[in-house]
Amino acid sequence: MSKPCLQVRDLNVKYPVGSTFLGAQRWLHAASDVSLHIDAGETLGLVGESGSGKSTTGMAILRLVTPHSGTVRLGDTDVTKLPASGLRALRRRMQIVFQDPYSSLNPSMTIAQLLEEPLQIHANMSKSDRQNAVAEILRAVGLHAGYAARYPHEFSGGQRQRIAIARAMILHPELVVLDEPVSALDVSTQSQILNLLKAIQDKSGTAFLLVAHDLAVVRLMSPRVAVMYLGEIVEEGPSGRVYDSPGHPYSMALISAIPFPDPVRQRSATRLILRGDLPSLMRPPSGCRFRTRCPFAMEICAQEKPPPAPIEGGGTAACHLHAHGPRLRGRSVQTLLTNRPGEVPQAAMAASR
Ligand code: SF4
Repeated sequence: MSKPCLQVRDLNVKYPVGSTFLGAQRWLHAASDVSLHIDAGETLGLVGESGSGKSTTGMAILRLVTPHSGTVRLGDTDVTKLPASGLRALRRRMQIVFQDPYSSLNPSMTIAQLLEEPLQIHANMSKSDRQNAVAEILRAVGLHAGYAARYPHEFSGGQRQRIAIARAMILHPELVVLDEPVSALDVSTQSQILNLLKAIQDKSGTAFLLVAHDLAVVRLMSPRVAVMYLGEIVEEGPSGRVYDSPGHPYSMALISAIPFPDPVRQRSATRLILRGDLPSLMRPPSGCRFRTRCPFAMEICAQEKPPPAPIEGGGTAACHLHAHGPRLRGRSVQTLLTNRPGEVPQAAMAASR
């Protein structure tokens, strides 16, 4: 059995945003009751539209934002209970790679200074050992060790992201949060960086939480995926099962929007088109948060929050369809649009093509 690296349970992050007319505090619920786990050396993909709370979840796991409640365990350490003095040691074990390689590196520092800084703070190493470690990590990310004397502006976007990855990996962390690590790069550079991340993970055994809105990137990188909508995880499971047989209408809408390279397959594909805009995180809908955009919504969806239900092929989906109405009983939500048209609500029929 694999060793758990990260365990997150019922994590809530909310921000105060002024008060109501009667003086009651108003909150923005950025992440609600988020639970997930990542084994050592594993990659979990976290997907969703922007505003779904995936980046907030990543930041709260790292304690870069303070969770309101819930627990985050890295190995045996309860991250949420660590005092400020304990956070320094935590930084050595958990790192982050940001989306924008242009702003994540201090332009006034050389590459050597940028890479040596974490070692100076966290590792008791001599100057020559630090220099050797810098040369080694530069080679590991595919850059010449002689580049250490240069400044970030002398590199392309892809090379800067390699440097950011080197800075995150130089302390051999147990977990790295990759926050949209390739979305600012061109397509050919994206695949180089993704291959590099895979090679680094194979060698180091570091676990990755890959936060991304690009579903193709997540499928390529992550054996498991969790789907977030309006601050909540609505589905999780093995990537193959979630992509091929989504159990939640929101996952299906996201996945059905991925274009097929083959135009014939594209024409015959079933697509679930969402209506309306993302509701406000300050006043999320009652019951199922997806109900205002869901073509299958039933009466119960406004009244009760759906519990996660097991899905054939692994994982869970939080949707009443698995217990009420057409009763999917763990099968793909696609079943409603393809095989059993008699059971499809009118709104869903209108949404399919
Ligand atoms: Fe749609 Fe209801 Fe399922 Fe939510 S619980 S996704 S509203 S059918």
